[in-house]
Amino acid sequence: MTEKINSFPQVLTIAGTDSGGGAGIMADLKTFQMQKVFGTAVVVAVTAQNTLGVQKSFLLPLEMIDAQFASLAEDFHIRACKTGMLGDADHVHQVALNLQKYDFGPITIDPVMIAKGGAPLLSQDAVATVKNELLPLADLITPNLPEAETLTGIKVQDQGQYPELAHKLQDMGVKNVLIKGGHASSAEVKDYALFADGSDLWVSSSRIHTERTHGTGDTLAAAITAQLALGQSLPVAIKIAKKYVTKTIKETIQVGHGHGPLNHWA
Ligand code: PLP
Repeated sequence: MTEKINSFPQVLTIAGTDSGGGAGIMADLKTFQMQKVFGTAVVVAVTAQNTLGVQKSFLLPLEMIDAQFASLAEDFHIRACKTGMLGDADHVHQVALNLQKYDFGPITIDPVMIAKGGAPLLSQDAVATVKNELLPLADLITPNLPEAETLTGIKVQDQGQYPELAHKLQDMGVKNVLIKGGHASSAEVKDYALFADGSDLWVSSSRIHTERTHGTGDTLAAAITAQLALGQSLPVAIKIAKKYVTKTIKETIQVGHGHGPLNHWA
């Protein structure tokens, strides 16, 4: 097959499903669609979930992870990919093996650990595997503050520490880092990006007071992945993605009785 035939921008999410349609692979695919890239997915986990929380989750057999990667590699030209919910150490390991085997463009790691409702999406013993096997493959990591604390062991007291967190993550092998400050208590949300060349960027936005933020992390990482596939530089991709997420939170839709989901048509 010639590259011309397979030239439409294609991206991949490697993550878990959300039966409620608000987070995980469902949020990623909606975001990809709105960013005008073709989305594909390797399903690592299936969750029984709604806007009230995660009721049950199930990790797919490892051979199904390999099979999905192989199917995509055979037919698609994937220009950028992201990871989300990976479940446990064995699944993190299997995903890392496949990411080494196939070139699916820049790799964004959203180190998903705990859902906003408190459900664990990554077992605690998998954190070491994420650090040892996944981070060295990452072009970008997008942790929120609790995830950055878990990965670095640094307790965050204020925004002045974000550069220290980002440098520590770079020391662990990640090329570029985006620290998401949404979990801080400040009126202004500040995110901090540290790039491979040592340059950095603060992105500020005023806090939107809402409960309807289910899937924001997934959506941000998916939008960045889409923009990278479209050829944007990382700083521009981050700015576009941040704007997109802010819009999806602001213009809410009333679906379900709990948190979220976001409005991707906003
Ligand atoms: N469910 C799945 C499958 C996810 O991947 C994620 C986030 O990455 C969540 C739930 C959590 O969503 P939130 O914490 O935004 O409610």
